[in-house]
Amino acid sequence: MKPAPFIRHAPKTLDEALTILGRVAPQDGRILAGGQSLVPIMAFRLAKPAHLVDINEVEGLDRIMTEGQVLSIGACVRHAAFHKSVVDNPLGKLLTTIAHHIAHYPIRMRGTFCGSLAHADPASEWCLTAATLDATIVAKSTRGERLIAAKDFFAGLMTTTLAEDELLVEVRLPLLASDTKFGFNEFSRRAGDFAMAAALVTYRLQAGKIAEARVGLGGAEARPRRIEDAETALNGQPPGDKVFRAAAETAAAAVDPLEDHQTSADYRRDLVRAVVRRALEQAAT
Ligand SMILES: Cc1cc2nc3c(=O)[nH]c(=O)nc-3n(C[C@H](O)[C@H](O)[C@H](O)COP(=O)(O)OP(=O)(O)OC[C@H]3O[C@@H](n4cnc5c(N)ncnc54)[C@H](O)[C@@H]3O)c2cc1C
Repeated sequence: MKPAPFIRHAPKTLDEALTILGRVAPQDGRILAGGQSLVPIMAFRLAKPAHLVDINEVEGLDRIMTEGQVLSIGACVRHAAFHKSVVDNPLGKLLTTIAHHIAHYPIRMRGTFCGSLAHADPASEWCLTAATLDATIVAKSTRGERLIAAKDFFAGLMTTTLAEDELLVEVRLPLLASDTKFGFNEFSRRAGDFAMAAALVTYRLQAGKIAEARVGLGGAEARPRRIEDAETALNGQPPGDKVFRAAAETAAAAVDPLEDHQTSADYRRDLVRAVVRRALEQAAT
């Protein structure tokens, strides 16, 4: 099918983009970034926006910058930008590891990091990354700028706290301590499919014990989040099979899994148990 008719706007500056978005948002105007989620939805006529504000030509939105202890990712930075490390810090390697799990190569060449967050698919690897690492989301409109903590950004299934006239201009990720260990694991039916459950874990070691543990989970619930009970189960313990299994069990017990016609809640809970344990094992190697 072809999309319903729409008007495409192609602003060249951020101010112009915000002005147009402010005007067309009430008429179901939408941002077009990489188009890898929006265009298929429009082709199926599940969305029929009357206006698209195409931000691909807006100057400066394709920048990745490090300022102090923060990596800033602009709205037009593609997934493929992370095929190589973008920063000399464990965060660079973490992002590269995760990027290769997102869809397929052609999609990674167009789809954007920020577009993934705005789209808020619970299975999105970048949404999981943002939730686990406590990203800050920078939203702008003609009314001004808002900084939104990741834990307040994901409101539910494909839903965020962005207002309709707000453009997600940038995502800020904190750099990681140089001795940070990380592990990522996801389960999907085929390579490139959306994950049915995914876990991202980071921790440091202090005198042989786990410290500052983060256990993030995506794909299993309506929105990605850190699982505090699992982090508590890890902190202060020496890394090892028994501790990892206990943390994975805690995570499995803490979730409220999504169900669909193919997947029961129990099955997804099993997946949570597996992906958390595997991510912890990977971090320890
Ligand atoms: C076959 C296939 C497999 C895929 N597999 C995966 C996968 O495994 N993991 C994964 O994470 N994703 C996957 N995707 C989705 C892909 O990663 C998309 O690129 C991504 O979800 C959205 O980014 P985009 O830049 O393409 O956004 P678009 O499609 O342009 O936009 C998506 C939505 O976000 C809004 N939006 C986009 N950017 C902004 C912004 N800056 N400010 C405000 N609103 C904005 C749009 O208005 C729209 O509503 C897959 C897609 C396909 C087609």
